[in-house]
Amino acid sequence: MNEQATADKHQRKMQKHKEKVDATIARAQEERGVIIVLTGNGKGKSSSGFGTLIRTLGHGHEAGLVQFIKGTWECGEAKILATLPGLTHEVMGSGFTWETQDKEQDQRAFDQVWPKAKAMLSNPKMRTVMLDEITYMLAYDLLDMAELVAALRARPLEQNVILTGRGAPTTLRELADTVTDMKMEKHAFKAGVKAQAGIEW
Ligand code: ATP
Ligand code: MG
Repeated sequence: MNEQATADKHQRKMQKHKEKVDATIARAQEERGVIIVLTGNGKGKSSSGFGTLIRTLGHGHEAGLVQFIKGTWECGEAKILATLPGLTHEVMGSGFTWETQDKEQDQRAFDQVWPKAKAMLSNPKMRTVMLDEITYMLAYDLLDMAELVAALRARPLEQNVILTGRGAPTTLRELADTVTDMKMEKHAFKAGVKAQAGIEW
């Protein structure tokens, strides 16, 4: 193929691609907030959510972050996010971990933070609210699915919600507008590489 033919072929391919993209843009006209579920066993759920909060804040909107599981270490992202104007940040007290094994204590900690999450979900100023590791609150029966669904359904029209955690139940996947299932192909930790600040937390 001579140079001109190659250029023409490329131009036709790009034109076709542009037509497809334009048609998709033309179809997507509804303006409303969305529910995003980031689930699965691969790495990248929470960090993707934090990145999206930064996007929201970058446009001058308010955002909320509730961390239902506080890591053993101070998370780098939470430290920097907390310094950004417009972010309201809550962490579930008593540091729910797999180790507490005390349902009553966990329930008390959850019951203290949930009203704060609900307040964010009913605040029209909050453009994006992230409920980090919320799936475990459902899995450990600290939160009723019906309660969460009601709060999500009643939220302001323009508000986006990001829900993270492994094993998102079908009800949440169905309710969501965008669902990403992170697939683990490899993880350095499994090959014996120690978890490190700035990558894992
Ligand atoms: P990240 O916070 O890096 O986006 P995540 O939210 O997808 O990860 P979680 O299940 O919340 O993953 O686990 C949090 C911690 O466990 C992080 O330090 C992350 O790097 C690590 N991790 C995530 N996936 C895996 C995996 N498949 N194997 C081992 N460690 C993992
Ligand atoms: Mg996570």
